[in-house]
Amino acid sequence: MIKKKLVIIALCAIVIMLIAASLNTASSTKHTTLGSDSRGYVIKDVYMPNETLNSKLANITGTSSQKKVKVAVVTGIHMRETLSINASNAVVKDYAKSHNVEIVQYTIVVHENFDYYTAGRKKGEGLAADYIIQDVAKSDYDVIIICHDHKKGYGEGFYIATPSMDNKSVTLAEKVDKAMSGLRFLPSDENPKKKGSSTEVFTKPLAATGHATFVYEIPEWVSYSEAYNVTYNLVDTAYNSI
Ligand SMILES: [Zn+2]
Repeated sequence: MIKKKLVIIALCAIVIMLIAASLNTASSTKHTTLGSDSRGYVIKDVYMPNETLNSKLANITGTSSQKKVKVAVVTGIHMRETLSINASNAVVKDYAKSHNVEIVQYTIVVHENFDYYTAGRKKGEGLAADYIIQDVAKSDYDVIIICHDHKKGYGEGFYIATPSMDNKSVTLAEKVDKAMSGLRFLPSDENPKKKGSSTEVFTKPLAATGHATFVYEIPEWVSYSEAYNVTYNLVDTAYNSI
């Protein structure tokens, strides 16, 4: 009798482990081009939690399904900022695999003159404004993180900012700031050197769609692994603060 019970317990454990393992690799991607023109194009990748496996696991373990969170990440608004593009891209994929979260990544790709500093920035900002804002307006994200790199003298270390200073963004940013070290919250990003950047064209109109919106700045001189770790931590802290 005891042996039988042990066998049943062992089988249950194996089933749970198998489901957990498949959950870990189950996130699926929907890849679409949101828009394209002579300046470049904008891609939207959706990483979905696997609902069926999630609810099966919940049934077996007897725990109710966890909260569902929707996060959007915007990368590539400034083409030259490859550290934030690469690190955020990897974090989005890894995080979606192991959490009950839907993550949408918007990637802006400028294909003309992107090496020319001002023109490339303007084109990236224009593409983001023309194609991403209207899509975000139809969505129900809990937080939107706009990823940038910054040079020395344009802010210190890792930081988040909330340029539109709306309640939703500031409240969430304050929670993240309290819960996370290694990153600062600089409320309205009042750095005069950064004025005339993407704030007026993209960040403020995006926040005006009613979603908590962060500008996230990575120092361009840190290593890839440091950028990856802080970005992962930021997504995780935001997820836990929602
Ligand atoms: Zn930037």
